[in-house]
Amino acid sequence: SMSTQTQATPTPVSHGPGRKRSVAELKALVEQANIALADATAEQIATWADETFGKSLVVACSMAGDTVLPHLVSQHAPGVDVLFLNTGYHFAETIGTRDALIDSINANIFDVTPVQTVAEQDAEYGEKLYERNPTLCCQLRKVEPINRELAGYEAWVTGIRREDNANRAHAGVVEWDETHQMVKVNPLAAWSFDDVLEYASIHQVPINLLLTAGYPSIGCEPCTQPVAEGEDPRSGRWAGIAKTECGLHL
Ligand code: SF4
Repeated sequence: SMSTQTQATPTPVSHGPGRKRSVAELKALVEQANIALADATAEQIATWADETFGKSLVVACSMAGDTVLPHLVSQHAPGVDVLFLNTGYHFAETIGTRDALIDSINANIFDVTPVQTVAEQDAEYGEKLYERNPTLCCQLRKVEPINRELAGYEAWVTGIRREDNANRAHAGVVEWDETHQMVKVNPLAAWSFDDVLEYASIHQVPINLLLTAGYPSIGCEPCTQPVAEGEDPRSGRWAGIAKTECGLHL
């Protein structure tokens, strides 16, 4: 007989191969790496990450100040998975940066998207949720999608730099990520913004044009303001709200 059931929305899944190592094994790798990579360059850290994790490694790129990261990793790990958290609220420049990067490096760059489109979220929670409840908006559009995606990998690579803000001042190059129960690799931890620009220039890596147009820290358009010269770069994020991180790196 014919089914009268309506098609359920398919549950999105991770692009990753799943995890094979135990938490204890992954934590042991972090301890070993911190000794072996104490004085390593970003290139050596990327090589270690590729050799250790292979297909279970994913690079996160916000297409803001971190496009050099997937370039650097893909030099050592051609075809590496690169996730872009596409909240649906990005600047056109950020989407343009993603497209330019797809055309210029050998990596598998894909969007990770929230379960709901912005229109569906507006219908359920009302328009401009980011103004009334940014924590819930970030939960729906960033935290849930990234948690779901990272669950398929053993390690992720991020563009965190120690000079970003006080929370990141002590970031290690290889860390245990308690929130996601996985390894977190930060090859650019010791880099300055000038180091990033120099690498991008030498290797002709596309960078987000907003970076040099008064937006040193770029997130979703409704929650990002330009920053005057000399101010804290991240003061342009969630301006006027006591919120400096979106919850991904806490
Ligand atoms: Fe929503 Fe703003 Fe968070 Fe983006 S940064 S998910 S628009 S609250």
